[in-house]
Amino acid sequence: MNIVLMGLPGAGKGTQADKIVEKYAIPHISTGDMFRAAIKDGTELGLQAKSFMDQGALVPDEVTIGIVRERLSQADCEKGFLLDGFPRTVPQAEALDGILESLGRAIEHTINIQVDKDELVARLSGRRICKSCGASYHLIFNPPAVEGKCDKDGGELYTRADDNPETVTNRLEVNMNQAQPLLDFYQAKGVLTNINGQQDINKVFADLDALLQSGRS
Ligand code: ADP
Ligand code: ADP
Repeated sequence: MNIVLMGLPGAGKGTQADKIVEKYAIPHISTGDMFRAAIKDGTELGLQAKSFMDQGALVPDEVTIGIVRERLSQADCEKGFLLDGFPRTVPQAEALDGILESLGRAIEHTINIQVDKDELVARLSGRRICKSCGASYHLIFNPPAVEGKCDKDGGELYTRADDNPETVTNRLEVNMNQAQPLLDFYQAKGVLTNINGQQDINKVFADLDALLQSGRS
């Protein structure tokens, strides 16, 4: 099961990806999570990514494509994978086709989670992330059982550096400019499925799950 999950920042990709990988036992490949881990570890990749992420800009395609190529070549991706937040640009989508072709694999589901801009701003401004497992919460829409602690592992919840109001506006704009050509790219191939992301978290998952169970989208 090879899945691509797209959507603007705050659409619910991470929230839904956690549920999908739990049910289908496939690796969760989030470029944002990979960059945040690299920044935390102080690696060369982290240094390259940080300045772009801090401004709400996209990390350059060659860097991002490189880490995805390496990750998809690992053995655990042979049984399937869930790409979350990649591709975000048409060159990334074209590169992904090339990577998969060289690995002899193809995408089965190309999914876009749709949410209005006002809702995205509200979601990003109240988002809290678990420091240890990266799970996503929201102060109002999806609060943890115990304030400030992750339900799954008790990890401390924090606000992502790029979820501040100034960066959010730029991030949404940058991502919206890239998103339409990307969606057009997949629409033209006839492989895009849109999911209504502006519903209860469990209802969005039920729609996604029905799609995944129905075979190729
Ligand atoms: P993304 O990975 O697409 O940026 P997240 O999964 O981190 O998005 O979700 C963004 C924020 O919105 C989080 O605070 C999350 O708890 C909340 N959220 C996710 N899905 C929903 C939903 N269906 N309804 C309301 N809030 C949601
Ligand atoms: P969100 O969907 O909420 O923006 P992510 O964790 O997916 O969160 O991404 C955080 C940041 O990481 C992005 O704003 C961007 O700087 C960088 N990033 C993640 N994925 C990509 C990508 N595919 N291409 C370029 N930059 C990316």
